Amino acid sequence: MKKKIAIVKLGHIDHLLNIDKIKNWSSSLFEIVHIHCIDYLPDSDVEDGYLDKKYTRNGLSEKMKCPTDCDYAIGIMRYRFEDNFYLHRINKKCGVISLNGIEDILRKESISLENFIIKQIYEIVALTHLVGDMSSDEVYKYVHLDTRGCLFDMNGERTDILYNTEKPIICDSCREAFRKQQINSDVVKKLERELPKIRKPFIISIEKKIKKYPLLSVIISALVPITLSIIANLICELIE
Ligand SMILES: [Zn+2]
Repeated sequence: MKKKIAIVKLGHIDHLLNIDKIKNWSSSLFEIVHIHCIDYLPDSDVEDGYLDKKYTRNGLSEKMKCPTDCDYAIGIMRYRFEDNFYLHRINKKCGVISLNGIEDILRKESISLENFIIKQIYEIVALTHLVGDMSSDEVYKYVHLDTRGCLFDMNGERTDILYNTEKPIICDSCREAFRKQQINSDVVKKLERELPKIRKPFIISIEKKIKKYPLLSVIISALVPITLSIIANLICELIE
């Protein structure tokens, strides 16, 4: 059964991303059933003498609620957490994604913020299958500190999100964790079918290849018209 997810926009984030792309993402594992917005956030609850807004998990926990008809609510904000990590579970049925600084990291590989958020939703949804209480530290049994390109990479070094936001895998040990917990094997099958779809648009992939291999691109550009000309001549001769 699909997990029902609510997205909660914390403050003004519409200028940062296309929320409809996230809402319309097709998955057999979850569906976004609500998009809520909390326009005004409380004052920063971290008193460190600096003026930038930053939050603790407790500070946001009072503000975020999961609708009764949803399994989990995911808040998205542009402000940072006090520890600068990008995803925190703030209570039993709510988590918050901080986009602070994320766009700058993703830009290097032309990865969109929408793909970044969709990947986080998959991670949360997958964990809800494994863990009874999402606010418990039981979650740490399933994420790993080393970066394997896996959905469950911890990304303690934030720049590692470059290696597992697009087309994340389920590594062997994580697949085994699902098996040991006797989770229906359909869950892993669906994850492995859908996660490769988190990728950049085809045209951007081509642009990146051209930038990475400029000489090869020039050679291909030169060869294509020559090849087409040869094929056209051959067709003409066959017709004649
Ligand atoms: Zn893994």
